[in-house]
Amino acid sequence: MNNADPTHNVERSRSLERLVAGIPTSDGAGVKLTRVLTHELQRRLDPFLMLDAFGSDSADDYIAGFPSHPHRGFETVTYMIAGRMRHRDSAGHEGLLENGGVQWMTAGRGIIHSEMPEQEQGRMEGFQLWLNLPSGEKMRPAWYRDIKAGELPHYLSAQGVDATVIAGATHGTEGAVSREHTEPLYLDLAMPAGARFDQRLPAGHNAFVYVYRGALEVGTDHARRVDAGRMGILGNDAAADGVVLRAAGDTRALLIAGRPLREPIAQYGPFVMNTREQVEQAMEDYRNGRLAA
Ligand code: MN
Repeated sequence: MNNADPTHNVERSRSLERLVAGIPTSDGAGVKLTRVLTHELQRRLDPFLMLDAFGSDSADDYIAGFPSHPHRGFETVTYMIAGRMRHRDSAGHEGLLENGGVQWMTAGRGIIHSEMPEQEQGRMEGFQLWLNLPSGEKMRPAWYRDIKAGELPHYLSAQGVDATVIAGATHGTEGAVSREHTEPLYLDLAMPAGARFDQRLPAGHNAFVYVYRGALEVGTDHARRVDAGRMGILGNDAAADGVVLRAAGDTRALLIAGRPLREPIAQYGPFVMNTREQVEQAMEDYRNGRLAA
């Protein structure tokens, strides 16, 4: 990467390695969602552990919400495109996540929280991403921040691409959150038909796009298409300095990348540690009321 180049353009784009459809499932007390980043992709997309997409006009699909449940060892990033969700946790935090807002929660050594809809009708649409913590930070104190839509930085390109910068940086615009070890990039791109968007990416960082409206073409030579409802995993081409995306129609897509931790992953449900013993300790701490104490 040539940091002296002020254009932030990409000389050589990564290519599309693989398309992933995601798996329809339900979680919490019966919220219907699509698990886009599943357990099988945790190694390939290290440091990301999970991505769920939820979107429905029917209250039956979301009204049950996510009643009180624990987390330890990682971070959750919830991005609400449409709808209202109330968060309450064991540290005494409470917040309303709505229309374009982000909740960034570092579970660290432990948190118990609920995520419940505050609407009985209308559309609810959004994403929850799980980002791993390095071994040395898995037992750090819990941390939490609500970021309202109006507080999220935007980068507007000459071609009319509006990038909401949740984490990392694009074209000199710093995002709302940064992380030292995993260096996450989290962009929500609104792209008019035909627009091109360049994003510099370190070659070693794992990266993917998730298209939720319209369609994208990835790369410049032999560009390959990612349709709505699909994740495209971007190859870690050593010679590539980033990715070039082109909107095949009016498109909304997430572009997510991060530096892999390359540590063992031991997961049982909402506990993600490095060893099985640490996971068993988390379960014991939860049973004994010490998880979030
Ligand atoms: Mn949760």
